[in-house]
Amino acid sequence: MILLAGADIVLPARVVSSGCLLIDADRIVAVEEKVIDTPSGATRIDIPNTIVVPGFVDVHVHGVEGHDVLDGAGSIAQVARRLPKYGVTSFCPTSVACDPVTLRAMLAEVDALRAAPAGLGARVLPAHLESNFINPDYKGAQPLACLRSPRPEPGHEAQRQRHEVDHYVASDILGAIAAHAASVGIVTMAPELDGGIDLVRQLAANGHRVSLGHSAATYEQAVESVAAGVCHATHLFNRMTPMTHRAPGAPGAVLQSEGVVAELICDGFHVHPAMLHMAIRTKGARGIMAITDGTAGSGLAVGARTRLGGRAIIVTARTAELEDGTLAGSVLTMDGAFRTLVHQTGVSIVDAASMCATTPARQMKLADIGRIEVGAIADLAVLDRGFRVAATYLAGQPWRNTTPAPFV
Ligand SMILES: [Zn+2]
Repeated sequence: MILLAGADIVLPARVVSSGCLLIDADRIVAVEEKVIDTPSGATRIDIPNTIVVPGFVDVHVHGVEGHDVLDGAGSIAQVARRLPKYGVTSFCPTSVACDPVTLRAMLAEVDALRAAPAGLGARVLPAHLESNFINPDYKGAQPLACLRSPRPEPGHEAQRQRHEVDHYVASDILGAIAAHAASVGIVTMAPELDGGIDLVRQLAANGHRVSLGHSAATYEQAVESVAAGVCHATHLFNRMTPMTHRAPGAPGAVLQSEGVVAELICDGFHVHPAMLHMAIRTKGARGIMAITDGTAGSGLAVGARTRLGGRAIIVTARTAELEDGTLAGSVLTMDGAFRTLVHQTGVSIVDAASMCATTPARQMKLADIGRIEVGAIADLAVLDRGFRVAATYLAGQPWRNTTPAPFV
């Protein structure tokens, strides 16, 4: 057993000042409102002047510290080993649009890591696919050559078998998803594409969370997609129609739909803090998931060059960019998202913890993580008074950084 003593503890609805957490194996077994003596058999760790929050759950992260989840065999394990440095205890490995061979290889690693986690790293959740079915006009840093119409194309089979890497259609991507169905958690797509609404229905019926994103959907089209099964929105406001007073666009539909939980990139740059605040006021902390959309550039120095889905990106002072200057994900980490929420939008640390852990865990249907309570898995981030990560616990085990320093 481990006794964490003297910290402020962020519970689902309030903060306990100078309390204690007792951990037995992988579970929280007691939450004490004051500092207590060490129970027999427990190891005491005094952590005054810290704040304990549930370990962060990032449902949209492409990589960190020079590793991208599409880099090939072993790359997701590399990301998992590094994310606890930033307080992350669970994450959805997130792809950009890619060919079906690359997608199958990535999903095979997700399958393997979910069956047998590799060492002490962040828990690998089912993947988030920023899929081939997004709108070319809102592609951002996604490779145009990989985008496909959701509309089935009969008669393509013979060609597909010869050249799957270059010549593939919707059914090839859907075949890869079906072959690894349990490892595909979220599929981002543009429902206004030809055949899009049918694809929303199909993916939702197969148990995937369908996310509106990289989309030119009007307000009306977005409302239709929600009725068809969309329950998630990918980086709300970024790479979607704008919200204006006569045309509420996709954001208007997302903000008003209680059944849709929205991601927000919380770096204060991708979305202005005033818009973060407005979205949080509208949907509440139960309707918002803080995400990083972090890339392999996260954790690297300004000027570092690395990759996103095999394409070169460059770390700038505030974000990551393709060589032509296109915004390409972010360099945000989840501890930074937490700081943005508290320092720039003025939400409470309870609400910030909800958006960084509880709400994304609920969206991924994880019953016993994402909150600090008796019986929950002891996935924890210990923050100093500046909300920087002092320690991370993964299922009751303190994480130790065994990775080499990132290259610059
Ligand atoms: Zn992304």
